[in-house]
Amino acid sequence: MSSHRDQALRLRARSVIPSGMYGHLSTRYLPDDFPQYFDRAQGAYLWDVDGRPYLDFMCAFGPNLLGYAHESVDAAYIHQLKSGDTMTGPSQRMIEFAEGLVELVTHADWAMFCKNGSDATTMAVMTARAHTGCSKIIRAQGAYHGSAPWCTPQALGTTAGERGDQVTCTYNDVESLERAVAVAGQQLAAILATPLKHDVLVDQEPPNPDYARRARELCDQTGALLVVDEVRAGLRLARDSSWAKLDVAPDLSCWGKAIANGHPISALLGNDKAREAAASIYVTGSYWYSAAPMAAGVETLRIVRTSDYLERLDRLGQRLRRGLDAAATSHGFHLRQTGPVQMPLFLFDNDPDLRQGFFWASQMLQRGVYVHPWHNMFLCAAMTEADIDMTIAAAGEACAALRAHVHTLTPIEKLKPLLGRTQHD
Ligand code: PMP
Repeated sequence: MSSHRDQALRLRARSVIPSGMYGHLSTRYLPDDFPQYFDRAQGAYLWDVDGRPYLDFMCAFGPNLLGYAHESVDAAYIHQLKSGDTMTGPSQRMIEFAEGLVELVTHADWAMFCKNGSDATTMAVMTARAHTGCSKIIRAQGAYHGSAPWCTPQALGTTAGERGDQVTCTYNDVESLERAVAVAGQQLAAILATPLKHDVLVDQEPPNPDYARRARELCDQTGALLVVDEVRAGLRLARDSSWAKLDVAPDLSCWGKAIANGHPISALLGNDKAREAAASIYVTGSYWYSAAPMAAGVETLRIVRTSDYLERLDRLGQRLRRGLDAAATSHGFHLRQTGPVQMPLFLFDNDPDLRQGFFWASQMLQRGVYVHPWHNMFLCAAMTEADIDMTIAAAGEACAALRAHVHTLTPIEKLKPLLGRTQHD
């Protein structure tokens, strides 16, 4: 496959962008043939700068919920852009979007808007500290909550002070949560949790209902706030907060990515208990009140409320899971497909250094399917049954190629730093 333009852009980037590319969209820990730059995205597909189309199972790492370049969401965005976007004050879209979220999300009585998931998680932590007058936050080891100094997965460039006042526990382990609460003692401000365990490089886990309920109880007993970080999973698992199914209502929830189908906006939602504290902290940003992403969000919520997008994601996801299972098994592999079907992660059995997963992902890419070898993926509602069937057919061929090459594969040098690193320090 020619990747002439992509290679040329990477070379140019290296002189004007430190390391050429940073953060979660960097291809640094992906197979060499994964493109870094894209020209276009439409529906469930994206096109790299060398003109190749891919069925995209990363969905921009979550923001693409309904399809790229969604007609009515983008029409709402463009309409608002033309009448007023970043202004000296917000438009009434801000209230409409807050009303829409409060209507949809059972635990929420109010919303505040920001830009990125990290803004929302940071605001949640600040709100909890303001509410309780306490400092300590409990979070699960290895869970990602953003790239602000307090939570970025690599401590380089941060101070011990910025990363202090945090106690870690093991996700889904009730006893470790109780121990963490004991360690925090009188200083507990919040328990922070993702809706499921969706850490990189390891199998995903659904939330243990006892863990979720115990987190709620411990917050009630101590006066701390329960925060659920929905930034990645929000709106893909439920038309509500993801723990509503477990009957566990957080005090605060953090949203981003999918809430405006890719337009830049995130939100902190909260209940009345946390309202005064949320109003008392000083948080803001030049672009936080821009109206066009809010208009896109209002339209996204309308589709969320009125369409069968969620059932569709589930149907497509089930079809994919069954098909991939059969494709892998027929070639003598076991592909561990973990997480909810609409947010799957694929890891091969007996592949501790991911050499098989890497080879397979690269084979999928060559067949026009963009899958990730170690991060959870996302389905979007623009995918069709035919897309899923094409993916399953590609997976069969990719497994056949893996079978033919499995004994020749060697450890992947570029993955060593990632595999050797502790997830969260
Ligand atoms: N929390 C979770 C669970 C996330 O997955 C992410 C982003 N991957 C964030 C927070 C941070 O969001 P952002 O990158 O928009 O700052």
